[in-house]
Amino acid sequence: MTVNVHPYDYDLFVIGAGSGGVRAARISAGYGARVAVAEEYRVGGTCVIRGCVPKKLLVYASHYHDEIADAAAFGWTVEGTPRFSWPKLIAAKDREIDRLNGLYIKGLESAGVTLMEGRARFVDAHTLDVGGKLVTAATVLIATGATPEVPAIPGREHAITSNEAFHLADLPGRIAIVGAGYIAVEFAGIFAGMGAKTTLVHRRAQLLRGFDDDMARRLGEEYVQKGIDLHLSATPTAIDKTASGLVLHLSDGHSLEVDQVMFATGRRPNTKGLGLEAAGVDAGAKGEVLVDLYSRTNVPNIYAVGDVTDRLALTPVAIKEGHAFADTVFGGRPAVADHADVPTAVFSQPPIGTVGLTEAEAVERYGAVDIYEAGFRPMKHTLTGRQTRTYMKLIVEPRSDRVVGVHMIGDDAPEIVQALGIAIKAGATKAQFDRTVAVHPTAAEELVLMRTKARTAKAEAPAA
Ligand code: FAD
Repeated sequence: MTVNVHPYDYDLFVIGAGSGGVRAARISAGYGARVAVAEEYRVGGTCVIRGCVPKKLLVYASHYHDEIADAAAFGWTVEGTPRFSWPKLIAAKDREIDRLNGLYIKGLESAGVTLMEGRARFVDAHTLDVGGKLVTAATVLIATGATPEVPAIPGREHAITSNEAFHLADLPGRIAIVGAGYIAVEFAGIFAGMGAKTTLVHRRAQLLRGFDDDMARRLGEEYVQKGIDLHLSATPTAIDKTASGLVLHLSDGHSLEVDQVMFATGRRPNTKGLGLEAAGVDAGAKGEVLVDLYSRTNVPNIYAVGDVTDRLALTPVAIKEGHAFADTVFGGRPAVADHADVPTAVFSQPPIGTVGLTEAEAVERYGAVDIYEAGFRPMKHTLTGRQTRTYMKLIVEPRSDRVVGVHMIGDDAPEIVQALGIAIKAGATKAQFDRTVAVHPTAAEELVLMRTKARTAKAEAPAA
């Protein structure tokens, strides 16, 4: 008589080899689980292949225009006209992405994870169809990420999203970017920095919804100074292709002639065609997989992590969720990913770093908070004459003296805020900030030198 030791092909089947899926697969395999991962595009997922990493490389590339111009203020003579080659940059970027893709594949292989190329779809709660092959697993993890959402307007097929922006054959001379979230403002900085005439079209009057208002307003001012056109309070209604480019028609009656239109109008959880119904998994209105604190769905053997759950769509968060899942299900150590006080950055120009509550959130939570702020021209630009400004603010809850939010716009803000994230997570008080000795001369020293309260922010009194 044969005994079926393993009723399923795998202990864990992961759908999607992105940030969350790869971490969950590797850690679970390390705990001894038999793991398979399906990937329909490229191992590494959005962040590595067409998100954070290539984006940051393009941001670096776009700085050189100003850096070369600024060098003269420091005594350098740069002979001839500097020239930029978009195809050379894209080729260099692609080589680095291929290298990382290879490392991710190796990482899975050396952990003993089986990689299956193809699109996975649920047949039932324990069975998946991967390109026509049926695979069974005791536990399934959905880590399919999200995908760009494009408004349904006539001519939308002429527009690109961030996915295609990384593979354009040429740098567009004129580009309209629709949206004002972090991806939109980052690409506006990239294209403008490379010399493209850039227009940011947004349906609201302010950029960066969800970020602190002071950051959003100041970035808008910086972008106007950089020559980026902000076309606000308007939505696209149609795109026409003409002999000389594309015409983007807007709800306010204006139209823009450009070479490319890029939509950065939000991302939708990747669950279309995944067969969630066949497995009985509940999804929300945007298609997001609904999960509890342990990333477990309503079906006991099915979990979901990362962007597909529409919690905090950031790579380090997806990774923490994937790791916590593996610890909980295969490591015998129940763990939850902490979504509080997650430091985050916008790689705009200048960049933004932020951790904790925005002023509006802090006022809503605590009623009244103290605001400390510093704004100045960065030392480097005292010689270059550029009008850019660095601004930072601390939000302090007065009863506990705890710093509940830090926001900064200026060079190196993302690097600075990463370190500050530790202080905020540890519950640092304003008095502890004040006791910390400055590093001089830096921009960051202002964070420990703000002695005078700028104002108290309060909830507005209800109208009589
Ligand atoms: P993903 O990394 O998206 O991985 C999901 C994978 O699943 C993909 O590889 C996909 O091909 C695959 N897949 C989907 N459906 C199936 C299926 N049915 N079968 C098989 N495979 C499937 N985050 C940051 O923290 N910092 C940044 O600077 C940053 N910049 C970004 C810039 C851009 C332009 C974009 C688009 C995103 C950026 N993000 C950034 C967000 C970050 O990329 C995501 O939060 C992160 O990748 C989410 O990881 P994930 O594991 O949930 O999904």
